[in-house]
Amino acid sequence: MNINDLLRENIKSMKAYASARSEFAGQASVWLDANEHPFGSAAGPGLNRYPDPSQKKLKQRIGNMKNIDADHIFLGNGSDEPIDLLIRAFCEPARDHIIILPPTYGMYKVAADLNNVAVKQVGLSDNFDLNIPQILSFADKYTKLLFVCSPNNPTGNLAGRDQLVALLRSFNGIVVVDEAYIDFATPGSSMLPLLGQHSNLVILQTFSKAWTMAGLRLGIAFASRDIVEVLHKIKPPYNVNELTQQHVLEVLNKEHIIAGWANEIIALRRMLERELAMLSCVKRIFPSEANFLLVQVSDAEAIYAFLLKKRIVVRNRSGEAGCSNCLRITVGTTAENALLVQALKEFSRIK
Ligand SMILES: *Cc1c(COP(=O)(O)O)cnc(C)c1O
Repeated sequence: MNINDLLRENIKSMKAYASARSEFAGQASVWLDANEHPFGSAAGPGLNRYPDPSQKKLKQRIGNMKNIDADHIFLGNGSDEPIDLLIRAFCEPARDHIIILPPTYGMYKVAADLNNVAVKQVGLSDNFDLNIPQILSFADKYTKLLFVCSPNNPTGNLAGRDQLVALLRSFNGIVVVDEAYIDFATPGSSMLPLLGQHSNLVILQTFSKAWTMAGLRLGIAFASRDIVEVLHKIKPPYNVNELTQQHVLEVLNKEHIIAGWANEIIALRRMLERELAMLSCVKRIFPSEANFLLVQVSDAEAIYAFLLKKRIVVRNRSGEAGCSNCLRITVGTTAENALLVQALKEFSRIK
């Protein structure tokens, strides 16, 4: 697939902003090119300087860890940034559209709405699997992007690999696979190994979930060089700040700790699942490959409100397609999960 054929005309012809640090990034001792403050920073060492706009060190480290060349990596201010940039790069407002597969993550539609790009919705099946023939029947030459969340938020299940490959082969646009929760999933579930075979595949991952750094805002898009180049051209020049680059570089040395914590969360999820299953107000727990459970309850509104009174916040997903009376519950610590179960027992007793 030729990515250029999918791009918006104005994006093809525009030139990227040339920042001071992108024009000269070599060695020097006197930096008078970027209007930075020369005294140093009141916020901390080196913070008077703009960060590396191409995040070279960070990409190198991530590339080493994932066994992928740095030029297949785009880094964003959270993965919400590449979601927005992909829509802006490929979808002509008021003409092109995207396909999403509800129930799913809300940001795809928000980003499309913001950009005046229409959204076609193809519901997942009863088991929350992809409905391939229906997806393909909704696609036409104006369908530029298809967003697949795997493991899916809020349902927790993985998209089938064979189904995704079928889509990559048959869909004449870009397939964005959002793997925000992949570090909690069965090992080997990531689509990353398929990157080299499909020029229309974009994989989103994030440091916000298993990597414990939601506050730092760092997301990754893995893609073909052509797509990465486009995202680079249109991103805000200094989209990943210096503190984020430094902190994430440090945490990348603690991969084993992060992996251990992910395993602990999975164990806690299984324990929570067993305890919830014994409650009379719980009707169904959907299988999860993530750090949350989608739980169908007797009365989501009432239980949500009851939990709030106990100062426990979960997510009421009842309004989403196929999620009637469903709460999405994030796996917490042992103590937090116990408080939740205790509150739900109390609810079951008084109902
Ligand atoms: C949490 C989440 C993200 C992460 O977004 P960031 O901007 O990287 O924090 C992305 N996709 C899905 C489906 C999520 O649930």
